[in-house]
Formats: sequence, C-alpha cells, structure tokens
Amino acid sequence: MAHIAFIGLGNMGGPMAANLVKAGHTVIAFDLVEASRHQAKADGAGIADSAAAAVRDAETVITMLPAGKHVISVWTDVIPAMTKGALIIDCSTIDVESSKQAHELAAEHGVRSVDAPVSGGTGGAKGATLTFMCGGDDKAFAAAKPVLEKMGKKIVHCGGAGAGQATKICNNMILAVSMIAVCEGFSLAEKLGLSHQALFDVASTSSGQCWALTNYCPVPGPVPTSPANNDYKPGFAAALMVKDLTLAQDAANAAGAATPLGKHAQEIYKAFDAAGNGGVDFSGIMRHVRGLAAKQ
Ligand code: NAD
Repeated sequence: MAHIAFIGLGNMGGPMAANLVKAGHTVIAFDLVEASRHQAKADGAGIADSAAAAVRDAETVITMLPAGKHVISVWTDVIPAMTKGALIIDCSTIDVESSKQAHELAAEHGVRSVDAPVSGGTGGAKGATLTFMCGGDDKAFAAAKPVLEKMGKKIVHCGGAGAGQATKICNNMILAVSMIAVCEGFSLAEKLGLSHQALFDVASTSSGQCWALTNYCPVPGPVPTSPANNDYKPGFAAALMVKDLTLAQDAANAAGAATPLGKHAQEIYKAFDAAGNGGVDFSGIMRHVRGLAAKQ
C-alpha cells in the first residue's frame, strides 16, 4: 500500500482522506485548521506540522483546496520537498490557467502531475463514489488511477495538463443552464395549472429529459431523493455553482468562446447568491425563477 500525503481536509478532502485510510494506505495529512487535523487523526491519518513536512517520502501527494491561488501556493511550497518521480494530484476545482501553471511547477522538479477535479459533492466524497475528471500525461494518469479509485467510482482521462479542469467547468455550465431551463418549465407549468407530476412524467421520458430533471428534480415530489424534498439543503451549494460558472466565463473569455446562456446562468446564480442563498442547494434556483414572474 502507498504512502500518501493529503493537504486540505475540508468538507471534501476530510472524507476523501478517510477513504484512503480505509483502503489501507498510509496517509499523512495537513490542513491549516486545527479541527480538521483532529478529525483526520480520528479517521486514522498521521498528522504533519506543515504541508512540506507531510509530503516528505510520500509516493503520492493530493491537494483539495479552495481556489487556484491556494493550489499554486501549496504546490510551490511542497514540490521542492517531494521525491523526484513522485506524483502530485490536485482534486480542487480551479481555473484552467492556474492548473497548467501548477503542472509546469511539477515538471520543473521532475514530479509527475495530474489535475483531477471531482463531481459528486460531499455525499460522493463520503461514499467514495466521486467522478474524477483527469488531465495529465498517460504515465501520470496511470499512476493516479488506482489511488483515485479508492475515492471514486468513475475515473476519466480527459487529456493533457488542465483538461480535467476544462471538462469540469464545461459540465457544470451545462448543468446550470439545464437546471434553470427545468425550473422555467415547472414555473410555466404551475402558471398553466399543470401538476408537477404530469410535466415530470412526460418530460422525463421525452425530449425535455436531462439529469437536472430526472435525478435532481427542482420541485418536491417526483424524485424523492432530490434536495427539493428537503427544503433545498445541499447537495451542491449555490455559491459553489457561482464559483464554477465564473471559472467557465473566465475560460470562455480567455479562449474566445461564445457562451451567452452560460453568462446568463452566471448572472442568475449570482443574484440568487447575493440574496443570501449561497448555502442553499443550486436547485433552489426554482424559488428565484418563480420570483422573477413577480418582477416582470
Ligand atoms: P473547504 O473550504 O471545506 O476545504 C478547503 C480546505 O483547504 C479547508 O479546510 C482549508 O483550511 C484548507 N486550506 C486552505 N489553504 C490551505 C493551505 N495553504 N494549507 C493547508 N490547507 C489549506 O472546501 P471543500 O468543500 O472541501 O472544497 C474543496 C474543493 O473542492 C474546492 O475547490 C471546491 O470548489 C471543490 N468541490 C467542492 C464540492 C462540494 O460539494 N463541497 C464539490 C465538487 C468540488
């Protein structure tokens, strides 16, 4: 079993590190927050005094941090302390440019690297059912896959450096736009006197079918496991959707791609977040869409 260093033990990283311990790996963990370090210790990880101390002798290093600036700062700190030929994997969701920069830092020191952002949220992190979208060369991906398999159920190699991040933001832009479209469908249906179930029964088996409707229905009833049945408790918080849509818009602007619906979705989610709903599940945008009718 491998010696793995895990840096960033928050809502996602904490349970992911615990799953590596459960799988029999030796995990040395670090986070700036003391409570997170205590939890990791209770889960069976060894605790280091710093990120650089955690990575010493590790065959694989994993980071799960808030944003690109944190990843660049931690990778700059830890890579010189890593063994040449070792592997570093970043599972955070960050901008494509920072991700490419992080890969370059690793290459300069003879360290292999993979960007591997996830989908599946905190439930997937706890249950080891995450999907990993990976960017990096074939050898680095082959080394990362068996480690990622202990934390997830689907591991996809999307291309070279930064391709995992690119895939993640494209997917989440599609998700945000399709969720708003489903909410508009239900909002119109309500005004036309249709029941939620009637629209669901037809749209879920017709051309309106999509994941936001069939797996994550934003009105209570048709899909009992969706957050709409639990007062829109996340789930996937709206503030994180704003983050991903902003990364998508930044990437679209830098690459010269036209994404007008992605831009509009970003504006709608930003307004929802600014109204104090950042902690609400992103499917709670149903309430916002209903509210728009009153403002017309
Ligand atoms: P979080 O804020 O709960 O955890 C981040 C952790 O990183 C914190 O514990 C923080 O103390 C630690 N940290 C920050 N700087 C550090 C440093 N220099 N050294 C050591 N530790 C440091 O965030 P999260 O919800 O776990 O999300 C992590 C990443 O995963 C984010 O990029 C997020 O966008 C992405 N993500 C989150 C979800 C979700 O549902 N929470 C889903 C998919 C992707």
